[in-house]
Amino acid sequence: MSAPTLAARQRAALPGWVTTYYDDPLTIQRGEGRHVIDADGRRYLDFFGGILTTSVGYDVPAISAAVRAQLDTGVVHTSTLYLIESQVRLAERVIRLAGLPDSVACFVNSGSEANETALLAALCRNGSNHVVTLADGYHGRTIATGAVSSLPGWQPTPHGPFRVTVAANGRPGPDGRVPAVGDCVADLERRLDQAGGPVAALIVEPVQGLAGFHAPPPGLLHRYQQVVAARGGVLICDEVQTGWGRTGRHWWGYEAHGVVPDAVTFAKGLGNGFAIGGVVGSRSLLDSLAGRSISTFGGNPLATTAALATVDHLLERDLRRCAGEMGARLLDGLRVLARSHDMVGAVRGHGLMLAVEITDPVTGRPDAASARRVLAAARDAGLLVGLGGAAGNVLRLAPPMTVTAEEADTAIGLLDAALNAAGTRV
Ligand code: PMP
Repeated sequence: MSAPTLAARQRAALPGWVTTYYDDPLTIQRGEGRHVIDADGRRYLDFFGGILTTSVGYDVPAISAAVRAQLDTGVVHTSTLYLIESQVRLAERVIRLAGLPDSVACFVNSGSEANETALLAALCRNGSNHVVTLADGYHGRTIATGAVSSLPGWQPTPHGPFRVTVAANGRPGPDGRVPAVGDCVADLERRLDQAGGPVAALIVEPVQGLAGFHAPPPGLLHRYQQVVAARGGVLICDEVQTGWGRTGRHWWGYEAHGVVPDAVTFAKGLGNGFAIGGVVGSRSLLDSLAGRSISTFGGNPLATTAALATVDHLLERDLRRCAGEMGARLLDGLRVLARSHDMVGAVRGHGLMLAVEITDPVTGRPDAASARRVLAAARDAGLLVGLGGAAGNVLRLAPPMTVTAEEADTAIGLLDAALNAAGTRV
């Protein structure tokens, strides 16, 4: 009898909800630049970067050297009971980059924990447990962050500790009508008045990630912030996907919305794959956690060393500008594909967050089954992309920010081939 495959062993040893892409799951064994290599030695251009975590590419010598040097000290972890130089330096760096008034930064291990920390601070600050979140938002899977995530298919966590008001995200409803910003704001005001009492926080993604790289319309976040601030609440911008220059125009997604958040949460791309997350925000807000927050691994020497080296790389190579230029080039390529493939509906991009809606050519409705076929065909062609969207029909492209023009053009060619292959129904 042949040995069970790794996929079969995973099914036996892990819960069923730990799912993988592709019927024939991929095992990545090595990474080089923007490429990954599977167990059979096949190379793929990686345009999803481990869900936007591999921000500057695989096997970056400067990052590997910094991490190795830290390992060579024999110290991986010391706990926050002692001073950690790389943690302090990283906090200083993050504070400078975030540019928020009178701010401090602290570190945890994931995006969910970062949002937990910011939400807990907001709750402790004014004693309210009422949180406003955007429709189709995604903020994590812990009890609190799940409770404020409203994306269909990612059910809100039951028994969450909050009163949650889900505000409109400004996108067209089922009738196709685009709501006016003023109407969205008036609706939120009316519902908060009905609910009564203070609000702790408004939590938003400046570009909604899992929802399919949609940005709220201009003015919406600013107006929502005013409504929530009038009821005593703070603005938390969840920059887990949008941070570190990925949107191209700015270092942070919030800057495009003309708001100044009270706290920014981050994770994913900061460590270029090392587990790290954190919050940068006003000292008074984060001080409300006094005596309440400690993370054993948060800010550990290995993760903060990797993060410092990643931020150095981002700054030295001006990768924010690169994200803007390569994002524009890819968006042009996607627009060409949209004209030649009738299953491609809308395409959009915010720097290196690019989305391709797969829709039924006849009805124009979201077509999740075809999107999954394109995802698999892209893998067969040698290109890894992501999937998302409230209806599961959005292909997501988010390559490392070191992506070259040649790789961008190759990816468009591979996606073209994948759309052709997936469009040919057998
Ligand atoms: N916020 C956003 C915007 C995210 O995209 C994610 C993860 N996809 C999270 C929070 C949660 O991060 P993590 O999975 O690291 O807990």
